[in-house]
Amino acid sequence: MIEKIIKRLNVELPATVKLVAVSKFHPFEAIEEAYRAGQRIFAESRPQELVAKVRRLEEIRQEMIARAEQDGGDLSAAESYMSDIQWHFIGHLQTNKLKMVLPYVNLIHSVHSVRLLDAIQSWAAANDRKINVLLEPHVAAEESKQGFEAEEIYEILANAADGAWSNVAFKGLMGMATFTEDEEIIRRDFSSIRTIFDNCRERYPSIAEGFTQLSIGMSDDYPIAIEYGSTMVRIGSMIFGERK
Ligand SMILES: *Cc1c(COP(=O)(O)O)cnc(C)c1O
Repeated sequence: MIEKIIKRLNVELPATVKLVAVSKFHPFEAIEEAYRAGQRIFAESRPQELVAKVRRLEEIRQEMIARAEQDGGDLSAAESYMSDIQWHFIGHLQTNKLKMVLPYVNLIHSVHSVRLLDAIQSWAAANDRKINVLLEPHVAAEESKQGFEAEEIYEILANAADGAWSNVAFKGLMGMATFTEDEEIIRRDFSSIRTIFDNCRERYPSIAEGFTQLSIGMSDDYPIAIEYGSTMVRIGSMIFGERK
């Protein structure tokens, strides 16, 4: 089932849109199944769960290596088992959990405060790393949803263009539409995010070169998000089924 849906999505999605498989709340075996179907990017939303899955993969790899050494099997295949997997983080990230997550992730989608940005910068500078992030604007109707006002995003990029957060690579925006069946509202939200994205690229040309990713669209609204220029769709339940 997982394999079938991934293959179908790969046919359906335009070449400019990357599929991010949201594996939160699903067991590692589901990730392996998706990986066998060719999927490489997986997203998690809770630090503990991400770390547990990273460790599980390492455990499996060590078992395969031990077995290969014992039976004279393919050692290099065991050593490189799933080694090209990429982890993305899409959840609410607290500054005190950063050091759990940052060593393993290729992209943080959900940066929603300057405090978090400052904390990412300190960790990245101390560890001589550059961390890829997306900024999350708040456009949905729900007050509960996190995110920056558009003006705050412009201010951040203006400061970044002046050299602030030098260990952070600003890759684009991530957004969520209002939770509703009303397609007009979903379109309005994606359109707002797209406008902020275009403004960012236009106003900060020194940053625009790397600022190319628009992470919008989930299981229920990804076809609409693609119309608004999505370059990354974050799809969970459609691939893995309902979360427990
Ligand atoms: C859980 C989650 C998704 C995936 O949602 P589905 O509706 O299961 O596709 C996408 N983005 C974020 C930020 C999430 O937390």
